[in-house]
Amino acid sequence: MMKELKAMKIVVCLKQVPDARDVRLDPITSTLIREGVMAIINPYDRHALEEGVRLAKDNGGTVTALSMGPPQAAEILREAVTCGADEAVLVSDRAFAGADTWATTHTLAQAIKTIGGADLVLCGKQAIDGDTAQVGPGLAERLGIPYVTCVKKVLACADGVIRLQRMMDDGYDTLELRLPALLTVVKEINKPRLPSLKGKMKARKIKIKTLSAADIDADPQQIGLKGSPTQVVRVFSPRARGERTLISGTVDQQVEQLAVKLTKIL
Ligand SMILES: Cc1cc2nc3c(=O)[nH]c(=O)nc-3n(C[C@H](O)[C@H](O)[C@H](O)COP(=O)(O)OP(=O)(O)OC[C@H]3O[C@@H](n4cnc5c(N)ncnc54)[C@H](O)[C@@H]3O)c2cc1C
Repeated sequence: MMKELKAMKIVVCLKQVPDARDVRLDPITSTLIREGVMAIINPYDRHALEEGVRLAKDNGGTVTALSMGPPQAAEILREAVTCGADEAVLVSDRAFAGADTWATTHTLAQAIKTIGGADLVLCGKQAIDGDTAQVGPGLAERLGIPYVTCVKKVLACADGVIRLQRMMDDGYDTLELRLPALLTVVKEINKPRLPSLKGKMKARKIKIKTLSAADIDADPQQIGLKGSPTQVVRVFSPRARGERTLISGTVDQQVEQLAVKLTKIL
């Protein structure tokens, strides 16, 4: 039985990403087209949100959904409220455009400090567009707190200590760390809830707090394209190489055909 932890402040980082079924590349700039493309909550972040809402419910606390993005990212924050977030904060400013993970972590860390810090920060394992999985660990470093990536289960959270299972290639580790801390979660951790009627009503009324670069006292040298040591030079779909053959039939027949083909090329 999890012991009550008074008013735990949980911040969940949500990224708005292009729907993977609708990814389009700009043939001239070789960057992702985001205008007019279906934008969704990054799939891993749905699980981070669900875990935050569960922990707040079980331990007493609040969940703040936080996103750095263009004004339209407010949509995913409103959606987060329909799924249980109590508050929503958008960090948005033209100065953030073109941010790499270094600049993104500075911006998110400044935002978390500006809203009064957090006992627990939850992120998804990775974003389906940038795919670097760097923001979680980078953000923890910026906040000076311990972190664990690829969390698949939270076992207990009491008296400022969280006990969890981290997914590993050959199973999992059981770890304990002191709060404040940051976790990145995998999809196996839970099944995100659907929007509730109460949540939808709250989302319709909620005022999304929007913070600019000045509001979070961001360092101009560390935000946006200018503050990004990494620049995405070109994004392209890898070209299919060599001829492809589909092998069909029963397993045995397929194995036989494959052996013949392999002996021919070896
Ligand atoms: C195709 C492509 C390739 C890129 N390659 C690189 C690269 O190699 N190096 C680099 O530095 N940048 C890269 N970028 C830019 C990178 O996407 C941004 O810096 C982005 O803000 C964070 O990196 P990520 O998407 O890899 O997120 P990840 O590090 O994979 O995200 C992990 C978690 O961090 C949180 N998070 C991430 N972004 C936000 C946000 N904006 N708001 C709130 N929470 C967030 C979410 O919980 C997310 O699940 C790339 C972008 C694209 C589109």
